Amino acid sequence: VHELTIASAIVQVAANHGNGGAVLEVLVEVGELAGVSPDALQFAWDVAAAGTPCEGARLVVRLVAVAVRCPSCGTEGELAEPLRLRCRACGTPTGDVIRGRELHVVQLTLAPEVGHAAHR
Ligand SMILES: [Zn+2]
Repeated sequence: VHELTIASAIVQVAANHGNGGAVLEVLVEVGELAGVSPDALQFAWDVAAAGTPCEGARLVVRLVAVAVRCPSCGTEGELAEPLRLRCRACGTPTGDVIRGRELHVVQLTLAPEVGHAAHR
């Protein structure tokens, strides 16, 4: 149900940006800490997109690795071990997440506007 809410929000964003035109593909970035299952999101996508300009569009999910800033040595970077919030340089535990919680639409592919095309 959580993923369906998110999928619906993505559908709305895509539909707004597409000005009602058909959407072919939507690329979203999902942080590993966003708490979203890509599989569940894919499944919810088809449900949320039905009857909208996104119907039949492909949802492409790009996972974003978690990156943290270390309070001890100042290193910024991805985690040494996935989902263990520690500095990869010195091992100091840190909750200062600088990347990995996001969930946003980064790219839309729209169908060519056939409605305004010249008469054939
Ligand atoms: Zn460090």
